[in-house]
Amino acid sequence: MFTSLQGRSVVVTGGSKGIGKGIARVFARQGARVMLVARNEGTLAAAADELAREHEACEVATMIADVAKVEDCKRIASETVAAFGGIDVLCANAGVFPDTKLEDMSEDDWDAIFATNVKGNMFSVQACIPALEASGHGRVILTSSITGPITGFPGWSHYGATKAAQLGFLRTAAIELGPKGITVNAVLPGNIATEGLDELGEDYIRGMEAAIPQRRLGKVEDIGYAALFFATDEAAYVTGQSIVIDGGQVLPESPEAMAAMEG
Ligand code: NAP
Repeated sequence: MFTSLQGRSVVVTGGSKGIGKGIARVFARQGARVMLVARNEGTLAAAADELAREHEACEVATMIADVAKVEDCKRIASETVAAFGGIDVLCANAGVFPDTKLEDMSEDDWDAIFATNVKGNMFSVQACIPALEASGHGRVILTSSITGPITGFPGWSHYGATKAAQLGFLRTAAIELGPKGITVNAVLPGNIATEGLDELGEDYIRGMEAAIPQRRLGKVEDIGYAALFFATDEAAYVTGQSIVIDGGQVLPESPEAMAAMEG
């Protein structure tokens, strides 16, 4: 049995939608106090209402911030400490995934995605270090992806580069933050059913389901439970690691293996 995370202070960047909201829901169910961070006020408020309705006893706060801005990242840390008295867990999850083919990609396209997915990760972690250290059991959980570290998808060369960069970042961050009692780990989702993925269209979704051995997209809570494990006291000795949560999507080694999946 894992030690309860009741009352722990958890920041979830990108917590207003999709995977971030799923992570926040899983922590809220454990009785953690959750700070949802995103740029759009309406979506944030709707997510906070939804979680509060589901879990009457849970404490959910929201703040508008853009993780691509260093000053906003500092505010994420200071406002969470002011609201909850500290930070035990940072889920650096905010991310964007615009689609652009390599031949059409501009410098602005490249810089914009790196600003949120890589710089945003780095500066949100950096800003939270003092509070995470003060907690005595600080946890950083990054949301990377299978895309980049393991797989590729046309249109996502820049996105894949950001998701692989997160893993390069985490390995050294884990070394530097180890003496402060802070672990740094990552979740690598496969294709997860989210509002963002819905925008990629029905054909994309059906095609993905067919390519996954479990024959379904992941649920946002599937990612939340992996993040929860990294946040437990019992995972204190796990750092610099990443876990793939994809229903086996990356496993078939060839078209023959895919065909054999048909039974
Ligand atoms: P989503 O549904 O589009 O949600 C993205 C969240 O991030 C929203 O809350 C969004 O709110 C926030 N956000 C985006 N840019 C931000 C910024 N600059 N500052 C603060 N918040 C920002 O996306 P998702 O699918 O849940 O993706 C979440 C993470 O999972 C990303 O890191 C993504 O790369 C990763 N991932 C997703 C999948 C998947 O299948 N869905 C698979 C692998 C990895 P605002 O727009 O209001 O800021």
